[in-house]
Amino acid sequence: MAWSASRASSAGCSLNRPTQNARAVATSNNPTVTSKVALSEVVVLRLDGLDSMVAKLAQLGFDTKGPVVRDGAVVPGPITGVGDLPCGVHDEQAPGSYQLNYSDDGRLFDWAVGPGSWKAEFFPPSQEVWRAAMVGDSLQFSEPAAPAASLAIVGARPCELAALDVLDRVLKDGAHRDPVYAERRERAFVAVVECATPAATCFCSSMGTGPGIEVGFDLALTEIDDADGHRFVVRAGSDVGANVLSGLAHEAARDEDLEARGRVLDKAAARMGRHLQTEGLASLLARNVDHPRWADVAERCLSCANCTLVCPTCFCSDVRDTTDLGGALQRRRVWSSCFDLDHSYLHGGAVRTSASSRYRQWMTHKLSTWWDQFDTSGCVGCGRCIAWCPVGIDITEEAAFIAASDDATTANAVSKTSAS
Ligand code: SF4
Ligand code: SF4
Repeated sequence: MAWSASRASSAGCSLNRPTQNARAVATSNNPTVTSKVALSEVVVLRLDGLDSMVAKLAQLGFDTKGPVVRDGAVVPGPITGVGDLPCGVHDEQAPGSYQLNYSDDGRLFDWAVGPGSWKAEFFPPSQEVWRAAMVGDSLQFSEPAAPAASLAIVGARPCELAALDVLDRVLKDGAHRDPVYAERRERAFVAVVECATPAATCFCSSMGTGPGIEVGFDLALTEIDDADGHRFVVRAGSDVGANVLSGLAHEAARDEDLEARGRVLDKAAARMGRHLQTEGLASLLARNVDHPRWADVAERCLSCANCTLVCPTCFCSDVRDTTDLGGALQRRRVWSSCFDLDHSYLHGGAVRTSASSRYRQWMTHKLSTWWDQFDTSGCVGCGRCIAWCPVGIDITEEAAFIAASDDATTANAVSKTSAS
C-alpha cells in the first residue's frame, strides 16, 4: 500500500478569491435573487451561496458533515462552511495506493471517494445496544438515546447515496429493521455532489450509480469552473431541499449552465478508471464456485478485512457483552467481516476456514447472491476495496479473469460472433 500526501499552497481556497469572483461577476448576466425555490427547480449558487447553505443547515438544527481532509485522506467530518471543505485537493488512486495532491485551483470536490464512507454515520463501527445495572435487587436495562440533531450530509457522491440505498434495503426496509439505523436515515438530509473526477479505481458507470444522479437526494450539486466562473448548478429534489435553498443568494440556471453540467458528467464518464461487465455476472459467479482463481487470489489475500471495512455496503456485525467490577453490563454491536475466521463459526468450528473460501464468499455475495437476498447488487463501483487492499487485489480484475476462462461465457461470445 503506497499512501502519502503532499501539500502545496492553498491560495485559491479563500471565499474572497479575487480572480475567480471578479470573473464570475463580469460574465454573469443573471441577476442574483433570494426568492423562494420550488421543488425540482434548478438554480446556480456561487461560493458564498454555498457557504450560506451550509450555515443555514446548522440554523435549521442539523448536525452538518461533509468531506474534510484528515490524516492525509478525504473523509467525512464536521463542517461549518466552505472553508472546511477540501479546497484544491486532488487524489491519485490505484490498486493498493491512495495519495492526495494539493493545488491552488480553488475547486472543492475534485477528488474521488476516500476510505471513510457515510455508512459509519448510520451504522457506527461500535455502537451501544443496551446497558444494565443492578438497582437494589433488580437488574435495570436502558438503551442509549438517539442523537437530538438530525444529520445533514453535504458532498456525498452519487455512488455513496446508492450505497446507502443498498443498506436501506437491508437495515431499514428489510425483514429485520434496525430501528437506530432507520431513524437516523429517515431524518437525514443529503446534498449530493456529482462526480467530475473519478479515480482510476472507480467503476460506478458500470454499476449505474454515477457519475451523475437523478433521484433520491434533497439537493444535487454539480461543481463547474469555466469562463462563467466557479459555481454550482443545484437541483432541489425534495421540499426540504427547496426550503434550504429558499432565501439564499442564487441565480436561475441558464441553458449554458445545464450544458456545462452535461460536459462535466460526460468528461467524468470518459475518465472512469475501471469497468465491470455486469451482464450475466451473478450467474457466472454462481457456476464458478470451484474455479481455480479462488485459490490464486488466496495466495495474495492477507485476510486483513480492509476491503470489507472500507466498503460502503458491507453490514456484517458482531455483538460484544462486557461487564465491569461494579456489576454493570453493556452490549455493543461492532463491525465484523467475512474475512474474520470466527465470522463463520458455528457450533464446533468455522465453516470457511480457507482464505479462498472467505474471498469467494465476499465477492460472490457482493456481485451474485446479494441479488437473491436484496434484489440489487451489493457493489456500487466506488473502488474503495481496490485502493485500500494492501496487496492491490482488484474485484473487477478477478471477475474479468473468471469470465474470460468460463466455458459458458466463451461459448456465448463465440456464438454471438458467429451470428453476426
Ligand atoms: S465491493 Fe468494492 S467497489 Fe464495490 S461497493 Fe464495496 S468497496 Fe466499493
Ligand atoms: S482482498 Fe485485500 S483488503 Fe480484502 S482481505 Fe484480502 S488482502 Fe485484505
